[in-house]
Amino acid sequence: MAQNRSLLSSPIEYLKGVGPQRADLLKKELHIFTLGDLLYHFPFRYVDRTSFQKIGQLTQQSQHVQIVGQVMEKNVVGESHSKRFIAYLKDDTGEIELVWFRALRWIEKTIETGKTYIVFGKPNFYRGTYSIVHPEISVFEQDSTGLEARLQPIYSSTEKLKTASLDSKGIEKLTSTLLAAISESDLPENIPASICDRYHFQQRFDAFVQIHMPQDFASLEKARKRLKFEELFLSQIRILQRKTVRKEDSAGFLFARLDPLFNQFYREKLPFELTAAQKRVIKEMRSDLISGKQMNRLLQGDVGSGKTIVSLLIILMAIDNGYQAAMMVPTEILAQQHYRSLSEITSGLNMKVAMLSATVKGSERNSLLAELKSGDIQLVVGTHSLIQEQVVFNNLGLIVIDEQHRFGVEQRAQLWTKNIQPPHVLVMTATPIPRTLAMTVYGDLDVSTLDELPPGRKPIITIHRYDSARLRVFGFMKKQINAGRQVYVVYPLIEESEKQDYKFLMDGYESITRAFPLPEFATSIVHGKMKADARDYEMQRFINKETQIMIATTVIEVGVDVSNASVMIIESAERFGLSQLHQLRGRVGRGGDQAYCILMSGNKLSAEARLRMQIMTATNDGFRIAEEDLKLRGPGDLEGIQQSGMAPLLLADIIQDQKILKAARTEAEKILQKDLLLQSSENFMVSNYINTIGKKEKRWSSIS
Ligand code: ADP
Ligand code: MG
Repeated sequence: MAQNRSLLSSPIEYLKGVGPQRADLLKKELHIFTLGDLLYHFPFRYVDRTSFQKIGQLTQQSQHVQIVGQVMEKNVVGESHSKRFIAYLKDDTGEIELVWFRALRWIEKTIETGKTYIVFGKPNFYRGTYSIVHPEISVFEQDSTGLEARLQPIYSSTEKLKTASLDSKGIEKLTSTLLAAISESDLPENIPASICDRYHFQQRFDAFVQIHMPQDFASLEKARKRLKFEELFLSQIRILQRKTVRKEDSAGFLFARLDPLFNQFYREKLPFELTAAQKRVIKEMRSDLISGKQMNRLLQGDVGSGKTIVSLLIILMAIDNGYQAAMMVPTEILAQQHYRSLSEITSGLNMKVAMLSATVKGSERNSLLAELKSGDIQLVVGTHSLIQEQVVFNNLGLIVIDEQHRFGVEQRAQLWTKNIQPPHVLVMTATPIPRTLAMTVYGDLDVSTLDELPPGRKPIITIHRYDSARLRVFGFMKKQINAGRQVYVVYPLIEESEKQDYKFLMDGYESITRAFPLPEFATSIVHGKMKADARDYEMQRFINKETQIMIATTVIEVGVDVSNASVMIIESAERFGLSQLHQLRGRVGRGGDQAYCILMSGNKLSAEARLRMQIMTATNDGFRIAEEDLKLRGPGDLEGIQQSGMAPLLLADIIQDQKILKAARTEAEKILQKDLLLQSSENFMVSNYINTIGKKEKRWSSIS
C-alpha cells in the first residue's frame, strides 16, 4: 500500500516516454511534477468523432465546429509581421481557410496538400469567406475498426510542448501509458461506501479511466459527476472540520441581558416594524451570543435591505452586557453618516457614541482615545483608524464591519486583538451571493441572509442610453429636479491616479454646470482627490438639498443614504462590473418616489459589456446579479474565496454545479456531525486521504 501510494507521487520522468527534456517542459509549462499531477490534468473537451459539420452549413452564428476536409492548397502570405500560413480546406459543400500566425514553419511541414484532416475551431466570416484561425487539426483516419468512433479527449498544451510532440495527442498517449501502469489500489476510495452506494458512483479508478478515455457520453458524464462530487465533498469536509474545531476552541462573551437599552429601544425608538427577515437574522445572532462561543458571522443582504438597524440591535445587546462595540466602515463619508444616524436614533438612551477617523485630531482625538480606554464611550464608529495601536478599549465585546468586501482579511483579524478574549464579530456585505455558495466560500464565517426588502419600495427603473442621447438625459434630469428630486452623476475613477479619468470627471462637471447653471441649479462634486473636509462640505450641501446634482466618483458607492435622491446616472457604465453597478444603483430608491438608474455608455460595446447592461436593466435582484457576475467573472474573483481555504477546483464549478455542491455539503455535514475527527472505520479513509494521499496526488500546495 505504502509503495502504491508513492507511485502517484513519483516524479513525472518515471513514466515511460518522458525523458528529462520532456519532464522539464511538463513542469515548466503545465506544472506537472508527478504522475498524480498528470492524472489530474483532465481533458478540457472531447471531440465526438461521429459528429461533423459541412462547410456549406456554416453560418455567422456558428460556434466551435468540427469539419472533415481535404487540404487543396497551402501558402505563406504577407510580410514580416503580417506573415501568415493559409491552408484551403474543401469538402463536398464548400471551402474554408485555415490560418496560422505563429509556428509557421512547423505547421507548414505538418500539413500536406491532398490529405484529409479533421479540423476544429470557431469560424470567422470575413468578406464572403469563412476562416478558422489556429484550428486544432489532426489527420483523418477512416475508422475501419470502429476504435476511432470513441470520444477523443482534448488536453490543454502549449506551443513549447507541441515542439516536443506533447500536443493534445502526445499528452493523451502519456496518460494512457499511465493508466495502464496503475491499478485500483493506486487510487483508493475516498468517499464512504454508503455515499457511493446511494449515488451509484463507480469506483475511483474507473472514473479516472472514463474521464480520460470515455467509452461514450453517458460514461463520461458519470465519471465527471463522481469526480466533481469527490472534489467538492473533500473540500467541504476540510472547510467544515476546520470551522467546527475553531468554534469549539473559541470562547465568547455572553450577551444574555437585553436590558435596559435593547428593550427600551425596541419598545420606544424603533421607527418601523422589522421585516421577517430582519427578525430571523437577529434570532440567529442572538443564539450565537448566548452560546458561550465567539460569534463570527456574515450578514448579507441586498442594498437597502436594512442591515444597519440589525447591527444596532446587536450593538445594544453588547452594551447591555457591559461591553463596548466598534463599527468599522470603509470610508470617511460612510463613517460620518453612520455616526450621525446612529447618534440620532439612539438619542435619549443612556449610551455614548463617538466617531474616530483620520480627521479627528489633536486634543479631540486624545480625549476620545482616553474615553475608549476608560469605557466611557460605549459605541465608536470609525474608519480603519480603529485598527491603530493607540486605540485601546476598556472591554470591547463586539466588532461590526460594514461593507466588508472593502476590507482585507488581515484588517478584520487585527480588530480581534483589541481584547484579550476575541470579541464577537459581525461583518456585513451588500454583495450577496447564493446561500450555499456563501457557506462554501466564506469558509470560516456563519452566514445570515436578509432576503427581503422593507415594504413599500418601488423597483428602480433602469435604462441603458448611449452617449449620443445625452441631451435627452439632461432633459429628464431637469424634469426630475423641477419635481423636487436630486440626481447623482457618477464617473469611473478606477485608480485615483489615473489622469485620464480625472479629466473625464472634470469635463463632465463643466458640461453639467453649463447645462444646469446657477442660480436655478446648484451642483456638488465629490471625489477622492479632495480634502476630507471639502468633501464633507459638498456632501452635506447635497444632503441638505442645497444642491440638486451630485457629481461623484465611486467614493459614494457604499452606504450613502440620501432618500430624496431618485436618479442615478452612471457615466461609462461599460467600465463598471455588475456588482459595482448594482451598488451604485442602490444609492437611489430609498425614499417613496419612483427612482431611476440610467446607464450611459459609448456606442461600441463588447459582448460582455452589452450583457452587463442587459442584466442591469432586466433585474433589481442583488442575488441574481451576484450570480450573473460570478458567471461572467468566474468565482476566482470572488472576494472571500481566498480566505476560505478552498483549494482551486479542477473539475467542479461552484456556479454550474450547485446541485452537486449542495449534495456534497449536506453529506459532509452529516458525517462530521456524528464523527468530527473522522475516526470511525467507515470515515477513516476520508481523513486518511485528506491528510496524506490527497496531498501528494494533487497539487494542493499550488493554492494561491
Ligand atoms: P443596507 O442594508 O443597504 O445597509 P440600510 O440599513 O441603510 O440598508 O437601510 C436602508 C433604509 O431602509 C434605511 O433608510 C432604513 O432606515 C430603512 N429600513 C430598514 N429596515 C426597515 C424596515 N423594517 N422597515 C422600513 N424601513 C426600513
Ligand atoms: Mg449599509
